[in-house]
Amino acid sequence: MLIKNPATGATIADVPADRHAAVRRKYEAARAAQPAWAARSLKHRLDTIRAFREQIAQRRDGLARTLTEEVGKPIRQAHNELNGLVGRIDFFLAESARTLRDKTVFTDAPNKLEERISHEPLGVIANISAWNYPYFVGANVFVPALVAGNAVLYKPSEYATLTGLAIAEMLHASGVPADIFACIPGDGMTGVAVLRQPVDGVFFTGSYATGAKIAAAAARRMVKVQLELGGKDPIYVADDVDVKAAAAAVADGAFYNTGQSCCSVERVYVHEAVHDAFVAAFVAEVKSFKLGDPLDESTYIGPLTRAAQIAVIKRQVAEAKRKGARVLTGGDAIKRRGNWFEPTVLTHVDGTMLVMREESFGPVIGIQKVSGDDEAVRAMNDSEYGLTAGVYASDGKRARRILDQLEAGSVYWNCCDRVSPRLPWSGVKHSGIGLTLSTYGIETFTRPKAWHLRG
Ligand code: NAD
Repeated sequence: MLIKNPATGATIADVPADRHAAVRRKYEAARAAQPAWAARSLKHRLDTIRAFREQIAQRRDGLARTLTEEVGKPIRQAHNELNGLVGRIDFFLAESARTLRDKTVFTDAPNKLEERISHEPLGVIANISAWNYPYFVGANVFVPALVAGNAVLYKPSEYATLTGLAIAEMLHASGVPADIFACIPGDGMTGVAVLRQPVDGVFFTGSYATGAKIAAAAARRMVKVQLELGGKDPIYVADDVDVKAAAAAVADGAFYNTGQSCCSVERVYVHEAVHDAFVAAFVAEVKSFKLGDPLDESTYIGPLTRAAQIAVIKRQVAEAKRKGARVLTGGDAIKRRGNWFEPTVLTHVDGTMLVMREESFGPVIGIQKVSGDDEAVRAMNDSEYGLTAGVYASDGKRARRILDQLEAGSVYWNCCDRVSPRLPWSGVKHSGIGLTLSTYGIETFTRPKAWHLRG
């Protein structure tokens, strides 16, 4: 499997992909090793994750470089991801013991009755992962899963293979047995082979299209299936905002990671009273973004990770133009080696256009004028997706009233494109089922067992 640098098209590595026989061997080794891992103390498992955290902190510069070279993420954003990862691990280190401890929830002394809950690991789980934030979306699953006593078959995205292999190397160096965390490099075919194993849980991060196939493949197995999928995340800008500040914040939310975040802002609705001023400030902000070599510290926009996405965005922009949209900046692929697309801002868009309906997952955004809060809420909820949604407004009461009506797993007031380890990360509609992060995202890797004890 050739690993290409998306900024240049150059081949940077050739890694053998695991096919069915290799996947089977890793599954059997994980199955055999898991009971002993679960029997180790929670303290021991937490100590290995603490050592993993140290490895990340020590190797940060090299890891960031690898991430930039294989995914194209601008190097400062690669550093941000690694710094954020350390914070997430700290959350799991701080909260796991309290969340996973056995709890007595009821006692009835005269009748000598006690009711308790314990948390048992699921067993061997599959973690099929995405490339856009490989450390974040991977660790959201494998860190709490390992802490809870599971073995993990980790299938990194084929676009983040070197990062996946580095994660495995660091976990093993930190004391996680090789059979307990198995990295399974490969593409979708390898993912299919992983799903053929009789695993006890499937935890997937990726697109709705693949998620639907995975749900179908696992449907008859009666194992936990969690799907963290795409989004078409809207922002509404009300008429009482500081327009310049809101434009800068929303532009960052739309273009950070070159628009390739599940929670990137993908649609903007602006109150008609501030629409023109907002658009002017927004376009000025986007034009100031520095595009170029992702290894350069000052670069903000890099290449698209997947070459195929260029055609998707081109089609969205062409269709929008045909239906009357105006391109205020950008609008086309950039002719140079690698996968590049101009940062693109469209206005005069509407809810029938692909650019306002399909996930773009790139540096393109549509801005639509709305008459007020009610129209904004209707437009925001008019989507197959429901990952995040937000509002920029000065009036907090008004903002909360709007957020209350939004069909999304996460809602934001005067912020966007944000994930917190303390809060559950989930989607509604085609954005997925299940959740990660927060204390719920620790419990989710366990089977709560009910104890009825009399005597
Ligand atoms: P993708 O669906 O193309 O691939 C995801 C993973 O599935 C990869 O590891 C791939 O090799 C594997 N795969 C592909 N076909 C498979 C099959 N038939 N069976 C089993 N595995 C298969 O997604 P991607 O391009 O890696 O990621 C981008 C998508 O992920 C976007 O839609 C984005 O919004 C979403 N995403 C969601 C979240 C979230 O937390 N909700 C986070 C990051 C990314």
